[in-house]
Amino acid sequence: MSGVNEIRSTFLEYFARNGHEVVASGPLVPRNDPTLMFTNAGMVQFKNVFTGLEKLPYSTATTSQKCVRAGGKHNDLDNVGYTARHHTFFEMLGNFSFGDYFKENAIELAWKLVTKEFGLPEEKLLVTVYSEDEEAATFWKKIAGLPDQRIIRIGTSDNFWAMGDSGPCGPCSEIFYDHGEGIPGGPPGSPDEDGDRFIEIWNLVFMQYEQIAGGPRLDLPRPSIDTGMGLERIAAVLQGVHNNYDIDLFKALIHASEEATGVGSTPETVASHRIIADHLRASSFLIADGVLPSNEGRGYVLRRIMRRAMRHAHLLGSEEPLLYRLVGTLAHEMGQAYPELIRAQSLITETLRLEEARFRKTLARGLSLLDEATTSLEKGDNLDGETAFKLYDTYGFPYDLTEDALKARGIGVDRSGFETAMERQRAEARANWAGSGEAATEAVWFGLREKVGATEFLGYSAARTVASV
Ligand code: ATP
Ligand code: MG
Ligand code: MG
Ligand code: MG
Repeated sequence: MSGVNEIRSTFLEYFARNGHEVVASGPLVPRNDPTLMFTNAGMVQFKNVFTGLEKLPYSTATTSQKCVRAGGKHNDLDNVGYTARHHTFFEMLGNFSFGDYFKENAIELAWKLVTKEFGLPEEKLLVTVYSEDEEAATFWKKIAGLPDQRIIRIGTSDNFWAMGDSGPCGPCSEIFYDHGEGIPGGPPGSPDEDGDRFIEIWNLVFMQYEQIAGGPRLDLPRPSIDTGMGLERIAAVLQGVHNNYDIDLFKALIHASEEATGVGSTPETVASHRIIADHLRASSFLIADGVLPSNEGRGYVLRRIMRRAMRHAHLLGSEEPLLYRLVGTLAHEMGQAYPELIRAQSLITETLRLEEARFRKTLARGLSLLDEATTSLEKGDNLDGETAFKLYDTYGFPYDLTEDALKARGIGVDRSGFETAMERQRAEARANWAGSGEAATEAVWFGLREKVGATEFLGYSAARTVASV
């Protein structure tokens, strides 16, 4: 059985042997793209290379890229703990061709890696191609000898990738692994494709067109390749487990969480342990890359992730801050591949400890309020927006934390009611200030309020503490 660290090396070494430059992961906060919340794919650090703005001294590369999908276009936060295959933080293994090799070679390299290097049984694999990309289907037949029924044609945007409204774009081909009968879920393209039986392990993007803004799609003179394989997903396959959270790395983290809480994994507690392990990784890597919890932008996404994990720690009965105690295990498991974890270990530990100590001041009371407000609710009902807003405003519960807290009981949250309450409060605050004649003060106050947020406004001293984080 190969561990995650070995699988990562096998991937990178395979592509290095095939002439690719091994490039380090880019940071989670993208250097070259202010419009992107977090790096969410391997191609992000190469964006300008694909568009031709930047030239590199090599034309093919391979990476293991740190990714976070918890905000923006890709948001897998709500899946975590509930599907077998989603994390907020994960590693995307990739190979890239910048106008070098194209479709046929990319398919061949991928097929050889999964079947020869990783030794996956061919009959467990199936692929999708974009419905208009007959060429890809032909290569799959020729190279892999796959029968027609295991080359699934998909006509949706799932199998057509575009950088934006303009720029490079092209069809995708995804490789799926069949984890076997007995696991609910249908093959890609079927009505129950969102199940976890057929798991997408690798996405190959064939960048062969350039979309002109509001105009035609032109053939790129030198098409490119961008691929992404989820390290945790391929590790699950190679380790003979179905769920990503059962791979060696997650076992170690979950074991640490079980030890620290004194609560084993049972059907009732397993999701909490998984969420803690996942969110610990995301939080730690974000802090290592310079994000700190705050009430806006990236910092607020980090705070939401941290607080969700902290509610689960509370749910498991831990009465003291928990997450910071797991950082050592994470650094032990991943510090060799990502030395920034070791460099930032004390900052990560302190940030987690402080945030959890702070949130604990309001968490228990917030949860009792939530209990009271939902005693008469049943599956399918919605919590009213006013209560969700009060939890946010007074108890520091991010909206999605409240949602997550009610998910197990099948209760939703009235989102528009929440937003109305938020808007009303903003308007009231504005009205209270109007007439003071101090336009400048008002501007400063609203700037500050937007920045600090209403989340924890428990008086001036509390507000100062929040702002000083
Ligand atoms: P899915 O359909 O399963 O959500 P995706 O199509 O959104 O995956 P891509 O954008 O194609 O994923 O990313 C490339 C690869 O990265 C996927 O094939 C998968 O192996 C992995 N991956 C994507 N999202 C996640 C995630 N949230 N956690 C773990 N691995 C992921
Ligand atoms: Mg997805
Ligand atoms: Mg997909
Ligand atoms: Mg995909």
